[in-house]
Amino acid sequence: MSVESLFPRLEPLLPKVQKPIQYVGGELNSTVKDWDEATVRWALMYPDAYEVGLPNQGVQILYEILNELPDTMAERTYAVWPDLEALMRAEGVPQFTVDAHRPVRAFDLLGVSFSTELGYTNLLTALDLAGIPLHAVDRTDDDPIVLAGGHAAFNPEPIADFLDAAVLGDGEQIAIAISEVIREWKNEGEPGGRDGVLLRLAETGGVYVPKFYDVEYLPDGRIKRVVPNRPGVPSRVFKHTVMDLDEWPYPKKPLVPLAETVHERFSVEIFRGCTRGCRFCQAGMITRPVRERSITVIGDMVANGIKESGFNEVGLLSLSSADHSEIAEVAKGLADRYEGTNTSLSLPSTRVDAFNIDLANEFSRNGRRSGLTFAPEGGSERMRKVINKMVTEEDLIRTVTTAYTQGWRQVKLYFMCGLPTEEDIDVLGIADLAKKVIKAGREATGSRDIRCTVSIGGFVPKPHTPFQWAAQCDHETVDRRLRELRNSLRNDKQYGKAIGFRYHDGKPSIVEGLLSRGDRRVGAVIKAVWADGGRFDGWSEHFSYERWMKSAAEVGVDVDWFTIREREEHEVLPWDHLDAGLDREWLWQDWQDAVNDVEVEDCRWTPCYDCGVCPTMGTEIQIGPTGRKLLPLTVV
Ligand code: SF4
Repeated sequence: MSVESLFPRLEPLLPKVQKPIQYVGGELNSTVKDWDEATVRWALMYPDAYEVGLPNQGVQILYEILNELPDTMAERTYAVWPDLEALMRAEGVPQFTVDAHRPVRAFDLLGVSFSTELGYTNLLTALDLAGIPLHAVDRTDDDPIVLAGGHAAFNPEPIADFLDAAVLGDGEQIAIAISEVIREWKNEGEPGGRDGVLLRLAETGGVYVPKFYDVEYLPDGRIKRVVPNRPGVPSRVFKHTVMDLDEWPYPKKPLVPLAETVHERFSVEIFRGCTRGCRFCQAGMITRPVRERSITVIGDMVANGIKESGFNEVGLLSLSSADHSEIAEVAKGLADRYEGTNTSLSLPSTRVDAFNIDLANEFSRNGRRSGLTFAPEGGSERMRKVINKMVTEEDLIRTVTTAYTQGWRQVKLYFMCGLPTEEDIDVLGIADLAKKVIKAGREATGSRDIRCTVSIGGFVPKPHTPFQWAAQCDHETVDRRLRELRNSLRNDKQYGKAIGFRYHDGKPSIVEGLLSRGDRRVGAVIKAVWADGGRFDGWSEHFSYERWMKSAAEVGVDVDWFTIREREEHEVLPWDHLDAGLDREWLWQDWQDAVNDVEVEDCRWTPCYDCGVCPTMGTEIQIGPTGRKLLPLTVV
C-alpha cells in the first residue's frame, strides 16, 4: 500500500513559519527509496530542531547503513518548532519525514536517538503529532515500534512507558539485526502481532522491551527488583559494541544541510571509547573499550567525505582525540595533504598538555587560530583527584603558557561545579588558577594581550558511572558558589579584565539529574510537563524550571529524592538490569576511591584494573601504531 506525500498539505503552512527550509528535505546525499519496494521501513528521529539534529553522526550513519540494505528504507524526522506544531495541529498535518514527507505513523519503526535527556518532551510532541498513542500499551498493530538509542537510552526508565524498545551501545550492527527480525516477522505474516515481534526482539537479549519487565518497589520508594514478566525474556539486556571500526567507515555520503546548522563540517570519528576513567563522564564509561580507526581509513574517509559533500572543514571526532595512538601522524599527514587548499581541519582538544598545542599548531596551518580549549574540570588539586582528572596546577599553567608563547591569544578553560565532595574553596580555586594562568602568560610573553575564558558546566551524576550513587548538589549551593567565583574574578583589578566567565544557573542541571537517574515514575512528570506546553528543554529560552517543579509536585514525584539523595551500595538502581559491561563492584570501588581522593590510571597504558568490560563483553582494547602514513601526499 503506497503512502502519499504530505508535502501538498505542508507546503501552504511553510510561508507562515520561521526557517521553512528546514522542513523541505532534498539535501545533497539524502535518499528517497520506493516505499513499495521496501519491506522494512524506518523513520529515524533526532528529537531536536533540524539545526541540531541534522549534523548528528549517529542518525546519519544509521540512515546510510539502513538505506544500503536492498529491502529496507530509512527517512529522517526532526522536532518541529512550536510555530509549525501549532499550524500542523490546526490543519491536521501529522509528523512527517523530511525526505519524502511521509507520515511517521506509516513506518514500521520510529528510531529515536537521545544524546541528552532534555529531548524527552520533544519525543512526546512527535508521537502526538504523528497520531501514535503516547503510551506503548495503548498502541496497536498499526503503530510503529518506537525504539530509543543513544547515550540517554542507557537509562530509558523515565521514558519507558512511551517506548516499545530501547537499545544500548553502537547502532550499526543492531539496526541491521532488528531490520532482519522485522523482515522475517512480516514475511511470516506478522505472527503474534505487535507483541510477537517485540518478544522476538527481547529474546535476543540485545533489545530492551520495557513492558516485558515489572518494577517492584519497597515501602520507602526504592526499587525492590526489576523482573521479566514473561518466559524467554532475559533478566539483563546487554549493550552492542562494534569491534572493528574500519569495517564501518560511515558516513560515506555526509548529509549537507539546507538550512544553517550547529556544525557545518564533515566529521570523522577517529576512535570510540575512552579509558581515561574520568569519574563524571558517562560517555567514557559506557563506550568502553577503546577501538581505534586506522590511519589509512581515517585518511580515506576524509578524502571521500570532502569529495562527496563539498565541505571545506573536517573535524576529527572522539571523546579525547589527542589520545589516538597515531594522532601525530594523522594530524601531520592531513595538514600536509591539505596545505594550500581551502580545506581546514579541526580537533576538539581538551587534554591539558603541550602535545595538544603541537596538534593545534599543525591544524591551524591552513586556517585561522580560533582558540584552544582545555578541560581541567576541577578547580583544586583535591577535586581533580576526586574526579580522576590527572592534571596538576603546574601542568595547566605550563601548557597554557606554552600556548601563549606560541602565538595563541585566547584560551578557554572548562570546569564543572557541583561535583561530589566539592566545597566552596574548590570552586574559588578556579579563580586562583585562572589568575595564575594570566600572570604566567604575561610574564612569558611580555604582553598584556592574552585572555582566558572560564566556562562552567553544572555536574549531573549519571547512570553507569562511579558517581551514580552520589548526591547531586542542590542548585542554590551551585548558584552561590558561582556567584562567589564571579565576584572573585570581577573584583580582581590586576587580572579580572583578562578573564571571561561563562556559566549557567544550576536549575537545568537538577531537571537533567531527575531525568538521568529517574525511574518509571518520572514518566508522569515528563508527560505533565509536555501537556503543560514543555518543549525543547535543551534550549534556555524554552526551558522552564518552574514548570518541571510544578508538574513533579502535581504527580507526586519528589525531585529531591531523585537528585540530591545519596544512594547506598546495594540499592537497586533503575538501570541495574541494563548492562553497559561495567562491573558494579568495580564502579562502587571507584566511587569509594573518589571519596578518598585516590586516582586510577588509564588502562590503555597500564595493567587492566578490572572494570569488567573486556572480560564481560569478550572485547579488548584496540590501540597501537600501524606504522603506516598518509604519505605519499596527494592533494585531493
Ligand atoms: S576491562 Fe580492564 S582493560 Fe578493559 S576497559 Fe576495563 S580496565 Fe580497561
